[in-house]
Amino acid sequence: MAIRILPEQLINQIAAGEVVERPAAVVKELVENSLDAEARAVEVELEGGGLSLIRIRDDGNGIARDELPMALTRHATSKIESLDQLERVASFGFRGEALPSVLSVSRLSLVSRTATDEHGWRLAGEGAIAADAQPQPAPHSPGTTLEVRDLFYNTPARRKFMRTESTEFRHVDQALRRIALARPERAFALRHNGREVFRLARGSAEARMKALCGEAFADSAILIEEERLGMRLWGWTALPSFSRAQPDLQYFFVNGRVVRDKLVASALRRAYADALHSTRYPAFVLFFELDPSGVDVNVHPAKLEVRFRQSATVHDFLFGSIQRALRDVRPEPQQHHRV
Ligand code: ADP
Ligand code: MG
Repeated sequence: MAIRILPEQLINQIAAGEVVERPAAVVKELVENSLDAEARAVEVELEGGGLSLIRIRDDGNGIARDELPMALTRHATSKIESLDQLERVASFGFRGEALPSVLSVSRLSLVSRTATDEHGWRLAGEGAIAADAQPQPAPHSPGTTLEVRDLFYNTPARRKFMRTESTEFRHVDQALRRIALARPERAFALRHNGREVFRLARGSAEARMKALCGEAFADSAILIEEERLGMRLWGWTALPSFSRAQPDLQYFFVNGRVVRDKLVASALRRAYADALHSTRYPAFVLFFELDPSGVDVNVHPAKLEVRFRQSATVHDFLFGSIQRALRDVRPEPQQHHRV
């Protein structure tokens, strides 16, 4: 075969394989867009675990009529315009990949209204937007609604990897709870098959933590607040007596971003090592903040991984902070009986 450039939709479908591998990833991307658009409230509605329908409505800044086609275009973003800004990026998004990726593997409708519009504008497509598509007027309050139907309808190989509706639903539920935990000043709601799953009012970080992690965790959690060398760690970490059989109550955020990181995991494991049996998992909700230039978030298309510039310093700070907090509530065992 001769070398040629792939068709646009296929390029987007390839990207979709990394960015939106299942309904939960679609919800994460779209809700993060709502938060980047300064929404105060985000409502998520699912049918069939998100495989039939994902509808996300926000009251954020909206997208101007003339920019609707751009929002669905690959590598188009309103969030950064230079390498310099990428290195300091504070928004969730910056790659301009989520919407075109989702569009390429679904039937998508986008309705949006800015503060100055008199009504909303709608643009929709199946797999792609027709070259001559024009936004049509549609009723909407200021903000944006994305509707994603029949995810992976045109990529059967991917569709086959989807699990049952209830499994996909569980992943969405988890993903949304993780985001909501880090954004207590925003309201969130989740509905599935017409039934309300949860509704979280805007409030304090502590109220949100209790609502999502339960009173039992809250009661056995130590409040952490440490600041050093431009780094800050705060949140709650449970006493070893509240350990879990699964790592299912472990939330770690880097500058408000949900992150899975080996360095972080190892720092926490080590901090608990003396107090916890190796088959048990600690529970924590921790927020780590540092200057955005100290962390590279552009490591992974779904941005679940990060790279710390000063990884040893970060590791020592996390380990030290947690270890100290645990030691302060668990005095050292008496030494004088030992020989
Ligand atoms: P990115 O988030 O990386 O910029 P996306 O493909 O997720 O890329 O979104 C493309 C653009 O569409 C965003 O930069 C933003 O300008 C706009 N956009 C997407 N979702 C929303 C929303 N809910 N409210 C307002 N603008 C949005
Ligand atoms: Mg985005």
